[in-house]
Amino acid sequence: MKVVFHEDFKSSYTMDPAAADGRMEAIWDVIGKRVTFVKAVPAGEEDIAAVHTKYHIDDVRRMGIYDVAALAAGGAIQAATIGLEEPCFALIRPPGHHASANSSWGFCYFNNMSIALEKLRRKGKIKKAYVLDIDLHFGDGTVNTLGGLGYVTLFNPSSSSRGDFLKQVQKNLPTEGVDIIGVSAGFDYAKEDWGGVLERSDYTEIGQMVREAAKKCIGGCFAILEGGYNHKVLGHNCMAFLEGLGG
Ligand SMILES: [Zn+2]
Repeated sequence: MKVVFHEDFKSSYTMDPAAADGRMEAIWDVIGKRVTFVKAVPAGEEDIAAVHTKYHIDDVRRMGIYDVAALAAGGAIQAATIGLEEPCFALIRPPGHHASANSSWGFCYFNNMSIALEKLRRKGKIKKAYVLDIDLHFGDGTVNTLGGLGYVTLFNPSSSSRGDFLKQVQKNLPTEGVDIIGVSAGFDYAKEDWGGVLERSDYTEIGQMVREAAKKCIGGCFAILEGGYNHKVLGHNCMAFLEGLGG
């Protein structure tokens, strides 16, 4: 499976937990030998401006986060593009699902998922998309930026029971009419992370469900990293998910 990554994501660009030292290494150390590396390239400003206001883009620039945030958005575009042909994962940060057009919070700056899907839509590569956000936190920025556009269906499963969480995912994934399924893959719902719910094997199952749903739709699938903060288990949960998604 191809994984989009860049050494620059290792730099600790802020003090928040998504930017913590060693977080990228915790994942790469586990998955690195089992995937094919694709080097991330930054998104162009026109791609970012398709989702965000100039005010917000300038704000991110003032914070000194623009370069790494544009690189993350570019990685998401690459993963989505590859995803049309084969399952793909973007190991990127900062995360993006709390980024709206004119503001962001929760360790996010640019909405990587929205920028990626908007790029594919503008280039005529997709007509309908589906976003599954399995992060512990509701992807408000993705809903704000894509929810009203009419071509994307979004689903944020939520439960304190892993069985129920998996059932929700299975029940809500599309079976037809979608060109691509994008997963906002946060791993903070894990038993040994902030959420305390999902087992490692659950991530494999979710990956499989997404892969199967994409097959039924005769469409593609990809995933991008959002949250996940326990470095001891983060890489293993990510690998478990990729095993399911990659087949
Ligand atoms: Zn989260």
